[in-house]
Amino acid sequence: MAVEQRVGSAGGKTWGSVRLGHLFGIEIRLDPSVLLMFALIVITLAQGLFVEWHPDWSKTRQWTTALFAASALLGSLLTHELAHALAARSFRIRVPRITLFLFGGAAEIESDAETPGAECVIALAGPLLSLTLAIAFAVIGQSELSEAQRKLLLSDPAQALASSGPLTTACLWLASINLMLALFNLIPGFPLDGGRVLRALVWRFSGNFVLATRVAGAAGQYVGWLLMLSGVWLLLGQGRPGGLWYVFLGWFLSHLARASLTDVVMRHALGRQKVRDLMQTRFDSVDAGVDVHEFVEQYLLRGPQTLWPVREQGIITGMAGLAGASRFSPDERWRHRVIEIMEPLATFPTVAADARASEALPLLAAAGDSPVPVLDQGVFVGFLRGRDILRWTAMHPQTVEGEAGMVSGSAGSIRKPRYP
Ligand SMILES: [Zn+2]
Repeated sequence: MAVEQRVGSAGGKTWGSVRLGHLFGIEIRLDPSVLLMFALIVITLAQGLFVEWHPDWSKTRQWTTALFAASALLGSLLTHELAHALAARSFRIRVPRITLFLFGGAAEIESDAETPGAECVIALAGPLLSLTLAIAFAVIGQSELSEAQRKLLLSDPAQALASSGPLTTACLWLASINLMLALFNLIPGFPLDGGRVLRALVWRFSGNFVLATRVAGAAGQYVGWLLMLSGVWLLLGQGRPGGLWYVFLGWFLSHLARASLTDVVMRHALGRQKVRDLMQTRFDSVDAGVDVHEFVEQYLLRGPQTLWPVREQGIITGMAGLAGASRFSPDERWRHRVIEIMEPLATFPTVAADARASEALPLLAAAGDSPVPVLDQGVFVGFLRGRDILRWTAMHPQTVEGEAGMVSGSAGSIRKPRYP
């Protein structure tokens, strides 16, 4: 059930999630989908498992224990991610944020590990911490049980836990769920932790990072398909609605494996290419004094360019596009000037011409289909879109294939490395 994995909102996007605060200098964010996960767990526990284990408990006791256990699970997920984050930091890799979401959590790291050893340590830190938590919860939970009850625990938990209190019950459930988290994450399919270990091993023995990613990524896709198949079997063959969860999880994993693979291959293919080598330099601009009606009719609707650099006395000072123009109704447009709908360059997300193209990938992912203005020492020189990167890799197949094989995918699959 509660399986921790990485984020649904692609790339470096943080919109939609809520900032909780900072821990060890790392921003902790909560995606709204966590509420769904939290509610599902509380309901499953309070109306299912705890009723089965403790039919004599009052409703209040069942619900409060379920709330406590689900909160402690969120805490467990967070410490799992913190373990990845702190391990990464010990290798001087920056970790800007951790996000908790529907399938668990994700630690977003600034770059990939530089050696197979470091990759292996960072990947193993999370499951090892979950394993430690499982042992700790089991020790606390078992301390109140008699020898006879302990023996019954695996074969008949309802009987073993019949006379135990909320703390014992919650701890033993948390022990089992943390153990499951550790084991699930160790499945050798990228981008699960186990997949990263697999990648580190192939990398170590082949010396080829991209080959290692391809092997681990393919394994991740197989794991995803297997999960989906078993979900369908549970759902249709066994009539168990819980199978739907496996279908979603499997789909999510295989999608992620593919996206991560594309991303790593693309990053590698881009190598040391600069933004200025890939940006679009053919574009038109509009004068700040043009009225919005003319801007819409004679500029925006007359070509494919969606974002227009705005000139003030020959210097480009901002950007104007459809969003700004649609602030005014068709009747009002002729009374307003482009300068009123322009967004100044200073407040617009931009990228430096001399930055590495691979460093611009998160920004491009966040921008979606919109072009990102490129600045050279503060002066506007061109646009870069996710599409330009894909086009570049398509036009330089020798670079890409020589290094990595064919690249396929969409701009939306561009993202930063994360540890689930
Ligand atoms: Zn993990």
